[in-house]
Amino acid sequence: MSLKIWIDGNLIDKENATVSVYDHGLLYGDGVFEGIRAYGGRIFENKQHLDRLYNSAKAIKLAIPYTPQQVEEAMISTMKINHLSDCYFRVIVTRGPGDLGIDPRKSKKPVTIIIADQVGVYPKELYENGISVISSSYVRQHPNACSPRVKSLNYLNNIVGKMEANDAGVQDAVMYNHEGNVSEMTAANVFVVREGVVMTPTTSCGILEGVTRNTIIKLGVKLSLPVIEKRLQRIDLYISDEMFVTGTGAEVVPVTKVDGRVIGSGVCGPITEKLMDAFHAHVRDDRSLLV
Ligand code: PMP
Repeated sequence: MSLKIWIDGNLIDKENATVSVYDHGLLYGDGVFEGIRAYGGRIFENKQHLDRLYNSAKAIKLAIPYTPQQVEEAMISTMKINHLSDCYFRVIVTRGPGDLGIDPRKSKKPVTIIIADQVGVYPKELYENGISVISSSYVRQHPNACSPRVKSLNYLNNIVGKMEANDAGVQDAVMYNHEGNVSEMTAANVFVVREGVVMTPTTSCGILEGVTRNTIIKLGVKLSLPVIEKRLQRIDLYISDEMFVTGTGAEVVPVTKVDGRVIGSGVCGPITEKLMDAFHAHVRDDRSLLV
C-alpha cells in the first residue's frame, strides 16, 4: 500500500503527491518546516515543534493557514492512515505557487504538507563508539541575515557544511558563527562535557534552538548534572572529556573525534551515556530509568 501524504487537507498517494514547479518553496527555498517524531503513537514535544514552526513562519511573514491544533490533528490522521506509531513527521509550509520573481506577494496561497514516514535508524555501533567530525570552513548564518533560529527551507549553508564532512570521510561538521564561536552541527545541536559540567552554546551563538537540546538540558538538571549554556570556542571541543550531538532523528549521538583529535577515551563517555539513557526513557515515558 502506498504511503499517504497530507497536502492541504487531502491524503494523496506518495507517487502523486506533488507541488507546482512555480512554488516558491522550490524556486527560492521560501518556506519553513519541522522534523518531529512519534514514539508509540505519541508525538514527542509537539507543542514545542509547532511553536517553532509558527515562530519561523512569523519571522518570514508567512501566514500558516491552519491553527496548530488543526496541524496536530492532521499529523495524527496521517500517522494513523499509514498505520504508523513510531514515525518521523516532516511538516512543511511553502510560500505557495507564484511567478518567477522572488516577490512573496505573488504567492497567494501557502501550501502545507505533512509526511509521516519510517524513522531512519543509525547503526548501533555509532552510538557506542561515536562519530568523527570536522570543523566546517563555512560560517553559520549571521544573526542579522535571515536568522539561523528560523527553520527555513533554505538549508544550503548547512548542506555545503555536510559536503565538507562527506569529503573528509566523517559523519558531520561543526559550524562556527561569525565570531568564530561554536554554533552547531549541520543539522544537530552540540554539547561538551568537561570536569563534570555539561555545556552547550547559547541561543545567540547562531543555533537553531533544538527540541532535543531543550530536553537534554531539562534531563541534565533532573539528574543533578550542572548544565550551562555559554559561548564555546573550538578549543573547548578539543579539550572536552565528552562531546555529543542532539537532534530529533538521531536523538543523542556521542562524538569521539574532532579534527583528528580523540575526545575522552574515544568511546561514548559516562555522562553522555547517562543522558542518552535518560532521553530514551523520557521519550517512551518510562520513569524507571530516571530514578
Ligand atoms: N540545528 C539544526 C540546524 C537542525 O536542522 C536541527 C534539526 N531540526 C537541530 C539543530 C536539532 O533540532 P531538534 O532537536 O529540534 O531536531
